Amino acid sequence: MEKQIKKRSLVIAIDGPSGVGKSTVSKKIAARFGLTYIDTGAMYRAVALAANRAKIDIDSIEELEEFCDDLRVEFDDGTVSVNGTDYTGLIRTEEASTLASVTSSKSPVRRVLVEYQRKLAKNGAVVMEGRDIGTVVLPDTRFKFFLTASHEVRAFRRHAEQKEKESLESKEVSESMRARDSLDSNRSDSPLVKARDAIEVDTGALDIDGVVEKILLAIEDGTV
Ligand code: C5P
Repeated sequence: MEKQIKKRSLVIAIDGPSGVGKSTVSKKIAARFGLTYIDTGAMYRAVALAANRAKIDIDSIEELEEFCDDLRVEFDDGTVSVNGTDYTGLIRTEEASTLASVTSSKSPVRRVLVEYQRKLAKNGAVVMEGRDIGTVVLPDTRFKFFLTASHEVRAFRRHAEQKEKESLESKEVSESMRARDSLDSNRSDSPLVKARDAIEVDTGALDIDGVVEKILLAIEDGTV
């Protein structure tokens, strides 16, 4: 018989590099338990576009601090807006990916977003995906997963996804992914790293349903 799981006690952190399948897997887990799905990457992408549009020099501490002091981000049911402007339709481009990996390395930006993300998780019943959810945003949650796959597998998936929107060579996608991975993993504030107590799942070796099944089993096992 299926175990009764209290929905509010479920705060699930799913981290990992790009192209590893985090979004698809996180949405499925959220649907399975009736939880709210929160995509923190969408927030970094939208903020990066907003800063770019406002012509902020993000290397200038003063300009960046001023921009962050007035920063209002809202994530709701898959839509993301910054200072009242909806960026949802603009965030899935290579340009947004590149801008996001640079903007997200800035501590003032992370401070604002981490605070907002914790607020969203305050009442429980969430699946939150990103790079630092298990390590920084929600370090106390019991349910942490770190998804991995080889660079080749991830670049192949990302190219398949991206070519429906933009005509990019697979080599281009692969190289820009490598550059972003390196930025995300080597930045000083909240680098992409597996939390010590996270369960690692290799998504290259399984199909989506296999990954979801593995995570569901671990959650059900952990909620005795
Ligand atoms: O997950 P996604 O590819 O949409 O994230 C875009 C970028 O946002 C990442 O490459 C990373 O630089 C940044 N990010 C982050 N911390 C998170 C989520 C995303 O630094 N929690």
